[in-house]
Amino acid sequence: METQSSFEALRFGAEHVSHLPNVVGGELVLSKSPRNLAVLDPATGKTLTNVPLSTKGELDQAVKAAVKAQKEWGQVPVKDRVQVFFKLKQLFEAHLDALAEVIHKENGKTMDESRASLARGIECIEYATSLPQLVGGQTLEVSRGVECKLIRYPLGVVAGITPFNFPMMVPLWMVPLAIACGNAFILKPSEQTPISAVELSKLLKLAGLPAGIYSVVHGDREIVEAICDHPEIKAIGFVGSSKVAKLVHQRSTAANKRVRALGGAKNHLIVVPDADPEMAASNIVASVTGCAGQRCMAASVLVAVGNVENILTKVREKMAAIVPGRDIGPVISRGALERISGYIERAEKSGAKLVLDGRKNTSQCSKDGYYIGPSIIDNAPPSHESACDEIFGPVLTIVRCDTLEQALQIENANPYGNAAAIYTGSGEAAQLFTERASAGMVGINVGVPVPREPFAFGGWNDSRYGEGDITGLGAIDFWMQSKKVTAKWSASHKSNWMS
Ligand code: NAD
Repeated sequence: METQSSFEALRFGAEHVSHLPNVVGGELVLSKSPRNLAVLDPATGKTLTNVPLSTKGELDQAVKAAVKAQKEWGQVPVKDRVQVFFKLKQLFEAHLDALAEVIHKENGKTMDESRASLARGIECIEYATSLPQLVGGQTLEVSRGVECKLIRYPLGVVAGITPFNFPMMVPLWMVPLAIACGNAFILKPSEQTPISAVELSKLLKLAGLPAGIYSVVHGDREIVEAICDHPEIKAIGFVGSSKVAKLVHQRSTAANKRVRALGGAKNHLIVVPDADPEMAASNIVASVTGCAGQRCMAASVLVAVGNVENILTKVREKMAAIVPGRDIGPVISRGALERISGYIERAEKSGAKLVLDGRKNTSQCSKDGYYIGPSIIDNAPPSHESACDEIFGPVLTIVRCDTLEQALQIENANPYGNAAAIYTGSGEAAQLFTERASAGMVGINVGVPVPREPFAFGGWNDSRYGEGDITGLGAIDFWMQSKKVTAKWSASHKSNWMS
């Protein structure tokens, strides 16, 4: 194996390497694949590095090393395993700005957004450190003299497949907890933002994680399919678009694997006339435009109930004041820019009203970057493509209706179910909305209702394939298997049907 000489080689950035390594058996290993892709800085269009589209043989090598390493790691008591994550948290805090810089570079997020994504990732590391308090089994005398005991074991080698939009935070939803549970983890990051995954390997090594427990295998569809099929990989956490979530779920379950696949979103915000205008408007704008709209929790459809013109005016003013390149970063690629622009162009032609056109708001940005300002499409019928498709950019579609009941019907009819929110001053409206919204994560006057740890993250409907949430208590069950032991030590208890 050709390895990169030192773990410091990337120095929290990719400027120094022309080809990004995989991480196999604890080493940075250059792929021999003839297939590579340029990783572009979305702010300039310039090449940061090249990512290999690894071969199945390279995945096999990583899995082989992981299987070997996991045999020992799985035997380490959980109280000792989590020590790595106490140290990892400190390392993240010590290198926060350098890590934020990597995310900023490869993904285009602003530095503040990058730091915020790390803060949320650190929360997941903290949760993993509490595993000894959460993972204890259960013992009960189920019959006189007969004791039943539940013991949890790691699964072995598990994998994560992640999207471009949160290159460090989404891996951190899975990696710390799955490894603290005693597994070895193989990460296949997005080929558009693959650098953070390699940086994470350096920090895990510094934190004392044994070689082979965290591996990175770069690639595209071919390697994802190989992960789904691999007999030694026991479980897969996937986060990405619904189309791919569905494929990964079908293929992995056919191979008798556990899979929890989070998909895309079309999140509705319902605004009723008694909402606090300033709070609602600021919140809505932050939700639509944060991370240039490339969040699965971003507001995408505003359902305006009755006369909320005062709030809509504020939303429009605040969105118009956002300067791409200063307040929001670029979107991920030229393809994404063209897709988003296409929705705006077609909306204009299809009878909806384009009240803010982000295509015209990029004068302060690099011309080679993939920038687009916030846009608003108003008066869209609920069936309009801009009210139904995941646009994944800073675009707000406004759908109008007369009653909260109609607004709920519009929200409920959307096939996704990641997040939904209401802006209201009424407890009664908030309660009705909470009961009726068809989404796994709902907000009351909160536009990005991410449930913070220990509450688990996960959507409903077409936003998730497979059972359960990706973080929290349910994730511990997902990354572990349980054995039930029934024992009797004394021959004297013969008085019931069991003994
Ligand atoms: P994507 O589905 O294109 O890619 C996700 C992963 O799947 C990547 O690692 C990619 O290499 C791989 N992949 C892509 N096409 C594939 C194929 N045909 N077969 C097998 N693997 C394939 O998603 P993306 O564009 O990177 O990320 C944006 C999407 O992710 C949005 O839909 C967004 O809503 C979603 N997302 C969801 C959540 C959530 O928690 N629900 C969180 C973040 C992002």
